[in-house]
Amino acid sequence: MPHSPSPFARRMDQVRPSAIRDLLALGADPAILSFGGGYPDAALFPKDLLQGVFRDAIADPTGDPLQYAPSDGLPKLRAQIAALMTADGTPTRPEDVLILQGSQQGLDFAAKMLVNPGETILVEDPTFLGALIAFAPSEPRYAAIPTDADGMDMDALDATLKATPDARLLYTVPDFQNPTGATLSLPRRHRLIDLANRHGLIVLEDTPYRHIRFAGDSLPTLKSLDTEGRVIHLGSFSKILVPALRLGWAIAAPPLLEKLSLLKVAADTQTSTLNMAATSLFLERHDLWSHVATLRTAYARKKEVMLSAIRQHFPQEVTVTDPQGGLFTWARFPDGFDATAFLRDHALPKARVAYVPGGGFFATKARENHARINFSAQSEDRIRQGIKALGDCLKENM
Ligand code: PMP
Repeated sequence: MPHSPSPFARRMDQVRPSAIRDLLALGADPAILSFGGGYPDAALFPKDLLQGVFRDAIADPTGDPLQYAPSDGLPKLRAQIAALMTADGTPTRPEDVLILQGSQQGLDFAAKMLVNPGETILVEDPTFLGALIAFAPSEPRYAAIPTDADGMDMDALDATLKATPDARLLYTVPDFQNPTGATLSLPRRHRLIDLANRHGLIVLEDTPYRHIRFAGDSLPTLKSLDTEGRVIHLGSFSKILVPALRLGWAIAAPPLLEKLSLLKVAADTQTSTLNMAATSLFLERHDLWSHVATLRTAYARKKEVMLSAIRQHFPQEVTVTDPQGGLFTWARFPDGFDATAFLRDHALPKARVAYVPGGGFFATKARENHARINFSAQSEDRIRQGIKALGDCLKENM
């Protein structure tokens, strides 16, 4: 066998530094007002309640919350998550739930489980940058399906499936997508399940923003419409409780869940027992949905504050989406505008404001004239101040 000049495995070719990593680093610089990371508002973290449940979990006389736990997760928390899912219209049994280290871990596992090197993953165009990062070690190809305000275009998906017979995994964020904020319409949800059945696809449904809805009722999850056990549903406590718990879950049919469970053992044995035990106590003692209602009201207001500041201060040629939930708006600049260069040369050094340039969210062909702007992390005053600074900077330099 010829020796490779590189010490790295071939799969590392697709594993590259990410804009997210660099931007999270920037967000930590107090001199920069960051609309970059997908951070929830830290002022709304239920600190006192969390302190209580962590204290009591640690004090548990059995010591169980400080012990190893079953790799699929604490049985009590699996049952609580099954009950949450069932109340949300997706009938779920405790044994259908696998507890994960954040839903991010489910992205990693799904690609490992289903995709051979060179096989195609179908994704939204644009899609969640963190998913592309998680899929990279599986060395996939991508087919990027156009999206609009109602999510993925099903005619385009149909055509792509006919042209891409090796595609077996479709990844979607159907509720308040990261980065665009778009929500997949009900007719398209039905059509997606129909196409998945006809083409033998597995659908990876990623829903961290599902409950951050500003108005109206939730649409049915893809999992609840799944007729053939083809949907892997991912949920997360990151946006509805706190990200630091690193607690997410997968719901899937037994053959898929069994394999995911094997990958869980291989990756990290189990999610933190203490975090699972404290979260389980939190769900037992406190009303998660009243906390979520507070978040919905606060983020709905922040979105309005941001969009009205954008209307006031941004050049007219810049358009932004008006999401009905989630944490982001997606800006589109005139053709030829380079959001990465503008961030580096103008927004950061002059306006002292950060956003995430859009290019990294496109799996196949980057369109640089976009940016993801977060409205949840900063206070309303800082949103007004940062959008004005960014708008003035755009007007001077665009
Ligand atoms: N999926 C999407 C669409 C996300 O936006 C995020 C986090 N920003 C994740 C998954 C990962 O979330 P976590 O691991 O914190 O549950």
